[in-house]
Amino acid sequence: MNKGILILTAVLLFQGIHFSVTAQQRAQVRYRGGGSDRPLNIICSFSDFATITEYIAGNRAQVSYIASGERDPHFVPPKPSYAVMLSRADMWIATGMDLEMWSATLLDKAHNPRIMDGEPGFVAAAQGVNVVEKVEFASRSEGDIHLMGNPHITTGPLNWKVIAQNITIGLIKVDPANAALYQKNRDAFIDRVDRALFGNRLVDLFGGPTLSKMLENQTLFTFLERPYEGGKLSDQLGGWLKKAMPFRGMRIVTYHKNWSYFTNTFGLEVIGYIEPKPGIPPSAKHVQTMIDMIKTQNIKVMMIATYFEKKTAQMIEAKTGIRAVYLPLHVNAVPGVDDNFKLIDYLIDQINASII
Ligand SMILES: [Zn+2]
Repeated sequence: MNKGILILTAVLLFQGIHFSVTAQQRAQVRYRGGGSDRPLNIICSFSDFATITEYIAGNRAQVSYIASGERDPHFVPPKPSYAVMLSRADMWIATGMDLEMWSATLLDKAHNPRIMDGEPGFVAAAQGVNVVEKVEFASRSEGDIHLMGNPHITTGPLNWKVIAQNITIGLIKVDPANAALYQKNRDAFIDRVDRALFGNRLVDLFGGPTLSKMLENQTLFTFLERPYEGGKLSDQLGGWLKKAMPFRGMRIVTYHKNWSYFTNTFGLEVIGYIEPKPGIPPSAKHVQTMIDMIKTQNIKVMMIATYFEKKTAQMIEAKTGIRAVYLPLHVNAVPGVDDNFKLIDYLIDQINASII
């Protein structure tokens, strides 16, 4: 080997070592999180993820979200300012299904390797959620926008517990120094969800996980028929499930497949949709079919997310006597409903008020 090649090899080796050291240093700075006093900069796609994140991260994070609560979550204009937000983020929390199709352009423009899919700074909120309405054969060319199953996971309080767990795992990855704090806050959040859903007495008797399992596999209400202290276990039920009893078993229509996790939890039976398929505007023929069905089956309530056009619903109301209830799909879609717990309270109150 001549001297020239030797020197060249040494230079290349040195550069290689130098490069790998700086890359490692950069990685450490990148994921240091709790090593510094700077709060984590967390961007969420939706307000509902943001409020759960705030609960778990406490003062360790500055949390923002992109889609305002009153917007159709499928269609969010990719404003340059959103790309700027993402370019500075330590974490990006999104559903992780096909709900945020709009985020691909933003992430492209943001050039932030920390928050890309597969990196520690990305949290897929739906990971581990029992996704409903999975479709075996579907084509986006038909216009269906729920190709990975129903992505509106935030409407079901049971899902929040999974979402909270995913967010906690993400926080610990980017900020391991504060792991204990995040775990403590996650446990408090999950307990709060259980107590809000089932009431204190049932949670104290059986624990949240057992009750949640029964609710999810639809055995809870049979179980609650069992005798207990001279009455039935159902006398011990509290929380949202108790509050929602007046409409448990009611058959309804919805505009879009927005509410499936909510309706599964609270026992509403959705017998039809104003949209022929998720994302497809109603045709005159489909609307007529719905009108006939509403009349023959005597359906009284139609749940519609606040962001949908109201003309079709008003026409259906006029022709059938059904009542359209316009409901916020997300946190901060209506004034005062600024966290997930208030949102479910509000939804149940509105539905109860519509059936009086
Ligand atoms: Zn949808």
